[in-house]
Amino acid sequence: MQLTDTLQNFQTPCYLYDTALLARTLDAIRHEVQQHDNYHVHYAVKANSNPRILSQIAAAGLGADCVSGGEIRAALAAGFPASKIAFAGVGKADWEIRLALQSAIGMFNVESFEELEVISQLATAMNLRARVSFRINPDVAAHTHAHITTGRAEDKFGIAKEDMVRVIRMAQTMPCVDFTGLHFHIGSQLLVMDDFEELCRCVNQLQLELDSEGIFAPNINVGGGLGVDYETPAANPIPDFQAYFSTFTRGLQLREGQQLHFELGRAVVAQMGSLLTRVLYVKQGRQKQFVIVDAGMTDLIRPALYDARHHIDNLSATAAEPAVTYDVVGPICESSDVFARDILLPPTRRGDLLAIRSAGAYGETMASQYNCRSLPSVHFIE
Ligand SMILES: *Cc1c(COP(=O)(O)O)cnc(C)c1O
Repeated sequence: MQLTDTLQNFQTPCYLYDTALLARTLDAIRHEVQQHDNYHVHYAVKANSNPRILSQIAAAGLGADCVSGGEIRAALAAGFPASKIAFAGVGKADWEIRLALQSAIGMFNVESFEELEVISQLATAMNLRARVSFRINPDVAAHTHAHITTGRAEDKFGIAKEDMVRVIRMAQTMPCVDFTGLHFHIGSQLLVMDDFEELCRCVNQLQLELDSEGIFAPNINVGGGLGVDYETPAANPIPDFQAYFSTFTRGLQLREGQQLHFELGRAVVAQMGSLLTRVLYVKQGRQKQFVIVDAGMTDLIRPALYDARHHIDNLSATAAEPAVTYDVVGPICESSDVFARDILLPPTRRGDLLAIRSAGAYGETMASQYNCRSLPSVHFIE
């Protein structure tokens, strides 16, 4: 990315979205998926719900994976067909279930017996049908940060494997509920395909159990979680979708006519986004040099929340001067408001423009107004 006059004039902090890279990423996904007529990709709206980004993803033909009523509204407004919307989440409120029923979404990913009963009651009262898949907790410990692993037995998500048949049988007795399949999601930022292979083995095992019960699951949804390269984003702007999809092609034993669904969030949008921020001060501490920037954890909370590391470029640096070690920190009154510790940057000065890379996923959507700050603005490059 060159430091153009346009970039120079942006008020910071702001997000910059590269829609051409998003288009190439969507092409790469399409290239893999179109080789299988039973593969369907739903974009996880929570990763980035900017209306323009959502519209571009909807136009590329993906479905949407929503985790709230607000996301269902955003997905519909962006042009995702209701039939391609899946609604997940451990705590669906009654109004959200009603909205999903009224909108005739493709399916609910149901996470408990208790939720199934409420959906059944509401659907019956509204005289509408609810298509439900069950999120099964596969008890797989994915290799990622503890805050973003979701498929272990002790996590709050999903229904225990042992209860799978019982919950399906219960759904089959409900007059307004249609059982549509099984759903899984083991975690996020997964780069080791072993985790997905383990998920495949678990799904195959559960399918054998369904066979023995004479139950057919029309849809298998393996969730999302494919990670991106945060360390060298310029070298790997597009995730290895070939390795990802082929892991499931090889690992899953699908039944005749079964549809396979994926819910990718981060892998679709992370690399197309940068957070632009200006250097306010370069402060000489007692032991360290701090680059204090005008963006903070309110704009991008991942480093504070998950110890995440984002690559940072100084766009204003010119000649190849020897690099200096800095901590890059924000202005928020929290010690965790640190973007990077002990990183090498070209000599950095007040007024320099920095780009915090791979910020397209879980960046803008998690922004807050803590400290009475304004939300970051957004710009697009084509
Ligand atoms: C968050 C989430 C996803 C997307 O996860 P990524 O790691 O961004 O791909 C998919 N499915 C469900 C149910 C989720 O909660």
